[in-house]
Amino acid sequence: MKAPDLSIDSSGSAPLLISLVVPCFNEQEAIPIFYKEACAVLEELKQKNISGEFVFIDDGSKDKTLEILDQLSKKDDRVHYLAFSRNFGKEAALLAGLQKSKGNFVVTLDADGQDPLCMIPGMLEPVLAGEFDCAATRRVTRKGEPPVRSFFARIFYKIMGVLANIEIVDGARDYRLMNRAYADSILSLTESNRFSKGIFPWVGFRTKWFEYENTRRVAGETKWSFWKLFRYSIDGIMAFSAKPLAIASVLGILFFVVSIGLIGVIAVRRIVLGDPVAGWASTVCIILFCSGVQLFSTGILGAYLSKTYTEVKRRPHYLVKIEK
Ligand code: UDP
Ligand code: MG
Repeated sequence: MKAPDLSIDSSGSAPLLISLVVPCFNEQEAIPIFYKEACAVLEELKQKNISGEFVFIDDGSKDKTLEILDQLSKKDDRVHYLAFSRNFGKEAALLAGLQKSKGNFVVTLDADGQDPLCMIPGMLEPVLAGEFDCAATRRVTRKGEPPVRSFFARIFYKIMGVLANIEIVDGARDYRLMNRAYADSILSLTESNRFSKGIFPWVGFRTKWFEYENTRRVAGETKWSFWKLFRYSIDGIMAFSAKPLAIASVLGILFFVVSIGLIGVIAVRRIVLGDPVAGWASTVCIILFCSGVQLFSTGILGAYLSKTYTEVKRRPHYLVKIEK
């Protein structure tokens, strides 16, 4: 793996390169605003002898995103882009962008202005100095987000904390600045079920956290419906924890022990009191309850099996239609 040559003095002659990796899905309104702001930041970095490149990924947009990216790449040779053959999701777009990026440093960020570009010079400092390998961001507020979503997001982070063997910071964003070694180690994970929020902490290295307040998108709408987020969180839990499988086994053992106890109670009542337990309603409830738990456990097993099935097929994470 290629480590960034931090021994190069950034004020010396060989400029370091920073790549901005930007997944875009129907972002025709946001991209021009993003590009303008990013150019201003890159201009600022030039003074430190750091040049920049853009790596946009058009994730199967149905609007004019691709046209806009094409125009930008024609007028600015720092702009590169990949267009997927269809929508493969943000995780695939991030992966493709990291693979295409050439920078000594890579920033992954959204096109919608929710990841403040003005933070980049500050985030770069500790990584450039070699004190940290990655500068990560977390939102400290969830202003402008529906309360139901914030509530479930908090629950998700709690569940993830209990179930996964890695620590996922509450409010952590995919907005990160990393050195080449960190980016390459992310790329060394080839799994199909990609969950960046878990992959980032899993690879380790030294991470410095930056906090910021949530801002609204500059344009367009969020691509995440409640159910899409729900499925994403289930995927995340399954990608980083096998504990749900263990929970199913523990439930089985627990029920077995309880049933042995109950058989004992019934036998004693029958022998001592001569009282056969009456009532079919309780029996039906117990049968329904137990079969519910059984189906739930089988469901967990099936979910892991289906994930394994997708992994062993080893299909590509994305397909590229145009590359520039
Ligand atoms: N995105 C993508 N593919 C998708 C969904 C989203 O490339 O299937 C991009 C989107 O264009 C944006 C970023 O991922 O640049 C984050 O998406 P969004 O802003 O909708 O998510 P939120 O900020 O609400 O978490
Ligand atoms: Mg966003």
